Amino acid sequence: MENVLDVKVGVFMSKLIAKNPGESEFHQAAKEVVESIMPFVEENPKYKHARILERITEPERVIMFRVPWLDDKGEIQVNRGFRIEMNSAIGPYKGGLRFHPTVNLGILKFLAFEQVFKNSLTTLPMGGGKGGSDFDPKGKSDNEVMRFCQSFMNELYRHIGGDTDIPAGDIGVGGREIGFLFGQYKKIKNEFTGVLTGKGLEWGGSLIRPEATGYGAVYFAEEMIKTKGDDLKGKIAAVSGSGNVAQYSVEKINQLGGKAVTLSDSGGYIYDPDGIDNEKLAYVMELKNIKRGRIKEYADKYKVKYVEGERPWKEKCDIALPSATQNEINEEDAEALVKNGCVAVSEGANMPSTPEAVEVFLKAKILFGPGKAANAGGVAVSGLEMTQNSMRLPWSREEVDNRLRMIMTNIHETCVKYGKDKSGFINYVIGANIGGFIKVADAMIAQGVV
Ligand code: NDP
Repeated sequence: MENVLDVKVGVFMSKLIAKNPGESEFHQAAKEVVESIMPFVEENPKYKHARILERITEPERVIMFRVPWLDDKGEIQVNRGFRIEMNSAIGPYKGGLRFHPTVNLGILKFLAFEQVFKNSLTTLPMGGGKGGSDFDPKGKSDNEVMRFCQSFMNELYRHIGGDTDIPAGDIGVGGREIGFLFGQYKKIKNEFTGVLTGKGLEWGGSLIRPEATGYGAVYFAEEMIKTKGDDLKGKIAAVSGSGNVAQYSVEKINQLGGKAVTLSDSGGYIYDPDGIDNEKLAYVMELKNIKRGRIKEYADKYKVKYVEGERPWKEKCDIALPSATQNEINEEDAEALVKNGCVAVSEGANMPSTPEAVEVFLKAKILFGPGKAANAGGVAVSGLEMTQNSMRLPWSREEVDNRLRMIMTNIHETCVKYGKDKSGFINYVIGANIGGFIKVADAMIAQGVV
């Protein structure tokens, strides 16, 4: 049976690759899902007959557009904008915008595809989408970022809406960018609506939204560790990245009694054996969110080790929280983590582990929480922001945090339900993929061939 399934996955993937040439990250994300879902689809022929795998890997709509803008010297710059509307079976398209020079169609299709399953796992009524641009906010003035965001929205506005498609932040898109995008949308449409999430608190944002992805990834790590009868107290955590997800992962680790010892950016990583306590974290937030500096400055200030051009995975830790970008843990990194005694990996970033790294984790039978489950807290609180916008009623910090914690616990339970094998080992990859798939697939069948 296994061989037959391998052949089926192979045939499916060769067609997908031929149809989507050069989109390696999309191929990687699709293969992981198809591999874990193919046995389930074979056992449940209704999904096969409805050609759900073929339909779910094809975006409902892809929008690509020119984004011209004037830099501070008065010169015209041109970037490319994208929005991938992947699947709206269970709700309006929902997913972040990424502004980074590496952005291309394949990366956004991988992210939009992952988003479909992630949003389904949250149990909230949200379809999947993703967008962005190859624009690099680094080194740009606030005015340049504003002019870019306005030009980007001059096209995007006609494709989005509170009941159609609700973008949010991702790499390179934080509170500043969401503000500029929202301002331009409001100006063009003459309506104040919840069309973007991650908004400022004073104008429709939700408490806990900035914290949600990092907090959620740590809650997920805690749930995984609980299955071993343990908790996060005294645990050493290696965290990568130093942006939104990384910062709030560190904050939550500190709150739950753990100790984060690393952070990174595209220049390298810092290792602080005494732990990144709340005071040092405040420095990182100021450095990254306001001064927009480099993580190396942390090492200079606190006199700790800085390793240029490397990632932190060879440092000894109990848990790893990759929170920077895709494919940032390779096979060698994964082997180093396992060898050094790491017991849990909770992916704050999207697809940070390569397929070879995932194989190392699964073979070693450590707790491995894939991004579509572990980092779903961000979009879950975006969903709660949409609810509050519709009700025109803000919830308290405790209310949102409690709901976030409950959602992460439920996602963990779903993974256990579909991912636990006969030996008791929980394969969270299979659990998240099947758990996310069923609801979307059933809705697609119910809605006919559209
Ligand atoms: P930010 O832009 O706030 O931070 C990104 C961090 O990752 C920065 O430290 C950045 O360093 C580093 N980084 C980005 N690209 C690279 C790269 N190619 N190589 C090395 N380092 C890199 O983004 P977020 O924290 O919002 O996002 C981090 C990850 O979490 C992404 O994978 C994102 O998709 C995922 N995610 C985010 C959610 C959210 O709510 N924000 C929700 C769910 C997932 P530098 O400044 O040097 O570029």
